[in-house]
Formats: sequence, C-alpha cells, structure tokens
Amino acid sequence: MLRRFAAKLRAFLPRDAVLTEEENLHPYECDGLSAYRKLPWIVALPETVEQVGRLLKLCSEEKISVVARGAGTGLSGGALPLENGVLLSLAKFTRILEVDPANRTATVEPGVRNQAITDAAAPHGFYYAPDPSSQLACSIGGNVAENSGGVHCLKYGLTVHNVLGLKFFTMDGELVTLGGKTLDSPGYDLLALMNGSEGMLGVIVEITVKLLPKPESAQVLLAAFDDIEKAGAAVAAIIASGFTPAGLEMMDKLAIRAAEEYAKAGYPTDAVAILLCELDGTSEEVTEGIAQVRDLLTRQGATGVRTSKDEAERMRMWAGRKAAFPAVGRLAPDYYCMDGTIPRKHLGKVLAKISELSREHGLPVANVFHAGDGNLHPLILYDANKPGELKTAEELGGEILELCVAVGGTITGEHGVGVEKINQMCVQFTKEELTQFHSLKAAFDPQGLLNPGKAVPKPARCAEFGRMHVHGGKLKFPELERF
Ligand SMILES: Cc1cc2nc3c(=O)[nH]c(=O)nc-3n(C[C@H](O)[C@H](O)[C@H](O)COP(=O)(O)OP(=O)(O)OC[C@H]3O[C@@H](n4cnc5c(N)ncnc54)[C@H](O)[C@@H]3O)c2cc1C
Repeated sequence: MLRRFAAKLRAFLPRDAVLTEEENLHPYECDGLSAYRKLPWIVALPETVEQVGRLLKLCSEEKISVVARGAGTGLSGGALPLENGVLLSLAKFTRILEVDPANRTATVEPGVRNQAITDAAAPHGFYYAPDPSSQLACSIGGNVAENSGGVHCLKYGLTVHNVLGLKFFTMDGELVTLGGKTLDSPGYDLLALMNGSEGMLGVIVEITVKLLPKPESAQVLLAAFDDIEKAGAAVAAIIASGFTPAGLEMMDKLAIRAAEEYAKAGYPTDAVAILLCELDGTSEEVTEGIAQVRDLLTRQGATGVRTSKDEAERMRMWAGRKAAFPAVGRLAPDYYCMDGTIPRKHLGKVLAKISELSREHGLPVANVFHAGDGNLHPLILYDANKPGELKTAEELGGEILELCVAVGGTITGEHGVGVEKINQMCVQFTKEELTQFHSLKAAFDPQGLLNPGKAVPKPARCAEFGRMHVHGGKLKFPELERF
C-alpha cells in the first residue's frame, strides 16, 4: 500500500520530495510538544501550489488523512503526524511574493519565517507586528493556523487582526481565495475562521499580511516587585489608566533567574516578579507616557523601576524575555509549556493558586507570559525519565487550564488546542457548541481527513474524560471569584 501510494505521489512530485524511509521520517515525528511522538506514514514536500492541490485531491480520492506542517515549532501537537497519513510539509514555500508599500501589505508563501517578513519590509520602513517568541523559526502558515500572538499583540492585535488575505486548498483540492489587500470583503468572515483553524479546514498556500510603519521611538520600563499579586495588580492598573503598551510582559522569580543567567539582560535576580512595559509612538508621546507609567508602577508598589536608555538596552531587556523558554529549559530535563488566558484582574490570584497547585503536585512552575493580554504561560518543570512525572505534569497542566476556565478565561491564548488540550475543550465548551464546531469542519472537509483527532473532541471523548462543561457553582475552584 505504502509503495503504491508513494509511486502515485512521485508521478507529480520530485523523487526526493516523497520520504518513506524510517530515518528520513524521524525529523517529522513531533512538533515543539516533544512528549507526543508518532512516525508519519509518509512525508511529502511539494514545491508548487499546483502540487499541493494535486496531492490533496489524490489523498481525498484515496481517503488518506493529511497533516500540514510549517516549521514544527507548535507547542500543542497540532502538527503531530498520523501513522496512517501523509505529513505535508510546507517547508519549501519560502518565497516573499510581494512587498507593496503603497498598500502596506506583503504577500508571502506559507513557509516564510515570521521574522523574514519584517526583514523584507524593513527597507521600506515597515514591519509585521505579531511577534511570537519563536519568530526566528516559525512559519507564517503556522502562525495563521494557530492565530499566534506575541509581545506586540497587546497593541497591534493577534495574527487574525493582521492577515488581509489567504489562498488555501480544501481537502478535495479546490483552491479558495479569501480577502485580499482591502480592509473588508463581502460575505461571511471566513478569513477570521481560517485563523486558528489548526490545519483542520484547509491547507494555506498564500498569505497577504498588513505591514505597519516602524514607530519613531520605543522605550521599555523594567519594574521589580517583591510580591507577585502586586505585579498582577500593576498590570490591571496600567491598562485601566488608558495606556495601551506595545508590550506588557511578566516573569516570576524562577523565570527571571533562568533568563538572567542565560541572556544577561540586566534583570534584578532578587525580585519576586518583574514587569517589562514598552511604549512606542512619537518621541514626545513616549517620553511623556514613560514618565506617567513609571509613577503609576511606583504607586503600585514596585521596588525599583528602570527605563531603557537606548536601543541597545531596550533590545537587551527584551532578549531576556524572548530567550526565557530555552533558559527555563536549562533548569530541568523537560518542561511542559501551558497556555491559558484569564481576565487581567485575576492575575495575582491565579498566579498564587498556580504556586499552590505546583506545591501539591511536587513540580516547580516558572511563569513568563503576556501579562497585558492575561495570557499565561506556566512552564512546568519535570523529568520525563522519572516514572510518572510526565503524567503528573499533564495533570497539573490540566488543572491550571481548568483554573483559567473557572475564572472566566480560556484554555488557549495562542498555542492552539492540538492534541494537548483536547480534553480541556470538554470543560470549556458544551456538547452543543462542540457539535457546531464539528458541523463547521464537515462543511470544509466532509470526509474528516484534514488533521483528524485534533482541536475539537468528539462527544464520546468528552464522556470518557468525564468532565463535560459544568455550570455555575459546580465548577472547580469554587473559592475563586468568578468573572
Ligand atoms: C520557544 C518557543 C516560543 C514560542 N513562542 C510563541 C509565542 O510567543 N506566541 C505564539 O503564539 N506561539 C509561540 N510558540 C508556538 C509556535 O511557534 C507557534 O504556534 C507557531 O505559529 C507555529 O508555527 P509553525 O510554522 O512552527 O507551525 P507548525 O508547528 O508546523 O504547525 C502548527 C499548526 O499549524 C498547522 N499548519 C502549519 N502550516 C499550515 C498551512 N500552511 N496550512 C494549514 N495549516 C498549517 C499545522 O497542521 C498545525 O496544526 C512558541 C514555540 C516555541 C518552541
């Protein structure tokens, strides 16, 4: 069966673009969530849009499942292969098709790295705003599929707010064009639907994104706190004061120490928490705003506040934050990165509760996250070689996500659901809501061949998980104030 199907693919793909030997399949066995692994049945690396269409049509006819893969940096197992399916890599689609300064857009192929868009736009004085910490490696196709966020998304929006047009194939090989270079288009907003669709509705082959003019000036404030709840309250106070920082990030003690040791960013290692708050705009706006936010942070109990003096210091301050994940990776053999979102006003309480859960489960948790968006990233430290520790990490992670739902938040901020959070979808949504999601998928992919088994659980799975959405007082963590 494998040989026969590989021969059919080789009829229109270059010979070395179809991988079937085990040693060639290993690089594709997982994404950034490496605790989950599966060898793909076959890997295909098409080079042209037409080849992608033909591949999908063939798979549709032969009822073979397909998992699209960008750079494989996803953290929820979205690109985890299927043992009986095709792993469709978009790695060869790396062309910047057009930078259009007059329309402030860039049109690119899906395998283009996030940072490469900004690099291409820079000579025109523009940049692409959504900046996941993985921006040096992750692909724009993956960003759209996960609706990725980043430090600057608080002010400039998530991927969905910065994508103007898409071309994608449905599973049966039909090419669909949505949007373009204009701000709106008629009909249902399918463009928004594709953002965050986790490779389950179509395979994206072209993307038109919005470019923004590079701000004249930007400065960062680094505020230290001796109490995590005070730092959480300061975040809420900044937003309530009317400022929309270009970035507002928080790190706790464990993350501060790891990042400082790794990146020498100048962080105060005796602080219990730090906030990084960036303001951008004209020089006057930034100078005035920085002075006001600095006062506010002091009033909120910051034990020290520093302002970046120049561009080099600003970049150094961010370098620590951007390197925090790999830095935390040096503290334990493995870490499990969670991704939940909560209403900002609950930050302090939820962080305190996470510390309590961490003690109960006996696994340390480092926190480094997009505080302005209320988007938490607890990093659970564990050792996969110790029997039972992965299971404990998963249980702790599950409880953290359920805690987010309990305070009115969500089980994902930007990393998607994938296979990782599929059980928690049963906590977040009712059976009826999940049925709607399945109907939507069936409209695009009636045979259910695109990335099956990810993101949206079947009701039977939820029944097995045993925690279908519960209402009101029956929710877990009754001691926490509801939204
Ligand atoms: C160190 C580190 C830091 C990170 N920081 C952030 C962060 O700050 N913010 C954030 O949002 N994420 C972050 N991530 C997660 C990850 O980088 C993003 O989810 C990213 O968008 C994934 O892109 P990718 O190209 O690697 O996609 P992949 O991992 O290859 O795929 C992700 C999903 O997209 C689908 N997909 C990929 N390409 C296509 C396509 N062309 N058409 C249809 N579906 C497709 C896949 O099927 C899969 O479901 C981080 C990851 C790491 C390892």
